[in-house]
Amino acid sequence: MTRKKLIAGNWKMNKTATDAVALAHDIVVALGSQQEVEVVVCPPFTSLEGVGKAIEGSVVKLGAQNMHFEASGAFTGEISAPMLRALFATHVILGHSERRTLFGESDELVNKKVLAALRNQLRPIVCVGESLAEREAGSTLKVIQTQTERALEGVSKELAAGIVIAYEPVWAIGTGKVATTEQAQEVHGFIRGLLTKLMGEGVSQRVRILYGGSMKPANAPELLAQKDIDGGLIGGASLEARSFLELVKAAASVC
Ligand code: PEP
Repeated sequence: MTRKKLIAGNWKMNKTATDAVALAHDIVVALGSQQEVEVVVCPPFTSLEGVGKAIEGSVVKLGAQNMHFEASGAFTGEISAPMLRALFATHVILGHSERRTLFGESDELVNKKVLAALRNQLRPIVCVGESLAEREAGSTLKVIQTQTERALEGVSKELAAGIVIAYEPVWAIGTGKVATTEQAQEVHGFIRGLLTKLMGEGVSQRVRILYGGSMKPANAPELLAQKDIDGGLIGGASLEARSFLELVKAAASVC
């Protein structure tokens, strides 16, 4: 089955609202009307509205980098799924390793967020990945299995097909160290197999599994050509229109 490739930019805590709108505008112009690859940009909360306006009518979709699982209430500093929907966001990154390690997000919390996103018709991009110590200890697949199973607890088969999983080895994020194509495909294939066990073949063949971790125009073509790598979650290289466009082109070339 052919899954549409997806390239998502995680801008993290970068760009003022003005700079974010300028980048979004450059991306829209550079992409034009290409349809082969689904493209999502995930700016900081402060830029969601401006970027949303800048990409209106284009092929680019809007995502957030995080959200709270409750719809509203006394949660100072948090943002809810209905708030994201009101700004026309369609995607939300959940369980990024920076959220897990720097902000103490547990598998249970990530699961609550996944369920809340789905309740609100937001497409979660659920991040899973092992640390360097876990890889060296030989527990990569165990870690990935636990994170994936826990994130998907209580998700129906109907909704599971719409989820995006991002495999992001923690040791490759922002470090310039990229997983080899063999290492990445091994984990992607493992996740696909796990999804088949959990949700059935029909669902697992529809779920997009992205690679994330120092993906750049130079290493993207080989990674994106792997059979279970359906796109990329891009940090550093998404902060410039030119490199982001190169990644979209790399994805389009293997469609
Ligand atoms: C990320 O943080 O999701 C990421 C993949 O970052 P980078 O591309 O900079 O490694």
